[in-house]
Amino acid sequence: MTGFADLGLDLALLKGIEAAGYHNPSPIQEKAIPIVLGGKDVLGLAQTGTGKTAAFGLPLIQNLMALESEVQSRQVRSLILAPTRELVLQIAEALKGYAKGSNLRILSVVGGASINMQMKFLLKGADILVATPGRLMDLHERDALLLDEVNVLVLDEADQMLDLGFIHVLRHLSKILTAPRQTLLFSATMPAPIAKLSKDFQTQPVRIEVAPAGKTADKITQRVHYIGTQNRVDFLRNCLAEHMDGVSVVFARTKRGAEKLKNVLVEAGFAATSVHGNKSQAQRDKAIADFKSGAAKILVATDVAARGIDISGVSHVYNYDLPEVPEIYVHRIGRTARAGAEGEAVSFCRPVDMHLLAEIEKLLGMAIPIASGERPTAEDIKKYGAKPVRSASNFRSGSGRGGQRQSASGKAGRSAAGTGRAGASQRSSKKEDWNPLEVEGQKKKRRPKKSANETEQGTGFVERSTPSNKGRQVKKSAKRSAARRKVAAKRKVRPT
Ligand code: AMP
Repeated sequence: MTGFADLGLDLALLKGIEAAGYHNPSPIQEKAIPIVLGGKDVLGLAQTGTGKTAAFGLPLIQNLMALESEVQSRQVRSLILAPTRELVLQIAEALKGYAKGSNLRILSVVGGASINMQMKFLLKGADILVATPGRLMDLHERDALLLDEVNVLVLDEADQMLDLGFIHVLRHLSKILTAPRQTLLFSATMPAPIAKLSKDFQTQPVRIEVAPAGKTADKITQRVHYIGTQNRVDFLRNCLAEHMDGVSVVFARTKRGAEKLKNVLVEAGFAATSVHGNKSQAQRDKAIADFKSGAAKILVATDVAARGIDISGVSHVYNYDLPEVPEIYVHRIGRTARAGAEGEAVSFCRPVDMHLLAEIEKLLGMAIPIASGERPTAEDIKKYGAKPVRSASNFRSGSGRGGQRQSASGKAGRSAAGTGRAGASQRSSKKEDWNPLEVEGQKKKRRPKKSANETEQGTGFVERSTPSNKGRQVKKSAKRSAARRKVAAKRKVRPT
C-alpha cells in the first residue's frame, strides 16, 4: 500500500500528517500529490470529503518551504480561492496545521470581517492567501496586495464559485494573474462551464478523477420520502425524533425559511442552530462552533453551508427543500459520510418538487430509493400545478449519466410522463418567500373578489354584460363628460 512517504513528501510534512492522524493517503491524495509536487496543473474531480485540502495543500506547502527568499510586503505567493467564508477559514486552519513548524505565512481573508485588519496583516505579505473572491477583489482595489507574482493558484469548489456568480471576478482575475503559474482546479462536479474555466486558467492539466462527476459518496444511503400533502415540519420532527442521538444538517432553500425552521425545531425541544446569509459572520462562526462541539445536534442551513464544511460525525442530511440545481444535491449530501464514515441522506419530495428530484436522479444516473409514500403520478403532478417531469424510465433504458444504476423499487418507473425539462430557466426562477409552517398543498391562490356581476366561466371570472349595467355605464360616462365640459368652461373664463 502506498504511504505518504512514497509520495515524495519531506520528513517535516510527514510529521504534520502524523499529527493530523492520517495514516494512509486517500485516493485523491495518492494521485494528486506527486503531480502537484512536480509543478503540473491539475484538474481534480473528487467526491466531497475525500481529502482534497491535503491533496493540494501538502505539496503546495512543501514547494513553498523549498523557497529561500522571504515573502515581500503585500506579496501573495500562492492564492487559494474558495466560494464560502466557512470553507476559506477551514482550508486555512487545515493548512496551518500541516505547515506547523515552518515559517510560512498563511492568511485568510473573507467578507464580513474587518478589511482594515486584513490590510494590516497583508502588509507583511502571504506565502499562502486563502480568500473568497469578493473580498480578494476588494483588497486588490485598495492596493492591499500584489497579485502579479502569484505562482500557484488553487480554485477550490470551482463549480460553486460559478453557481454563486463569481465568474466575472474569475475572468477579471485571469487578466491580473500574469506571472507563469501552476493552477489547480478542484470541483466535485464537472458541468461545461467548469471545463471552460479550466481552459481559461490551465495549461495541459492532468485530470484526476476519483469518482465519476456527480456521483455521490458510496457510503451515503440515499432515500426519498414522497410526502404528498403532509406537513413537512411535522414530518421532519418525526424523522429527527427517530434519531435523537444523530447529528443532522437540514437544508432549506431560503434564509428566512431556514431561520423559521430552526426556531420551530428549538421550540419543539431540539438542540438546533442555523447558518445562512442573514447572519453575521460572528453568528455563523458561533453556529458552526456549536455544531462542531455538539452543543447543537441539528444545523439548519441554506446552501451557503452545503460545500466544503468539514464536520465529522454528521449522520444525517435532510433535504427539507430539494435544491434547484441538481449538482448542489451532491454537495449537500457530502456533508455526511466524511472521511470513510457512513451516513444517510434523506430527501422530502412533494408533487410540486418532482421536477427537481427528476433532475437530481438524472445527474446521479439512478432513482433514489423510496423510504415512504408513493412517487407522484402524472395526474398528481398536474393536479398540484407542478412543472412537468422527464420520465424516470430513463434510468431503466440507461440514459442516465455514468455511475451505478440502481432500480430503487418497482415504483421508480411510475413517474410523470411529462415532456418538459427542468432546466436553467427553472433553476434561475425567483426563490419563494417560504413558510415552513404552512400546511403543505394547501397554499391558496389569490383570486379577484367575486362581485355581483361576475359569473364563473371555465377557470376565470368573466364580466357579465347585462342590459341594466350597460345602462349604468352609459349614465356614468355621460356624467363624466359633463364634468369635463364644466372644467373646460371655467378655464376659459379664468382671467389670465
Ligand atoms: P477535505 O475533503 O479536505 O475537506 O477532508 C475531509 C476530511 O478528511 C477532513 O476531516 C480531513 O482532516 C480528513 N482527511 C484528509 N485526508 C485524510 C487521510 N489521508 N486520512 C484520514 N483523514 C483524512
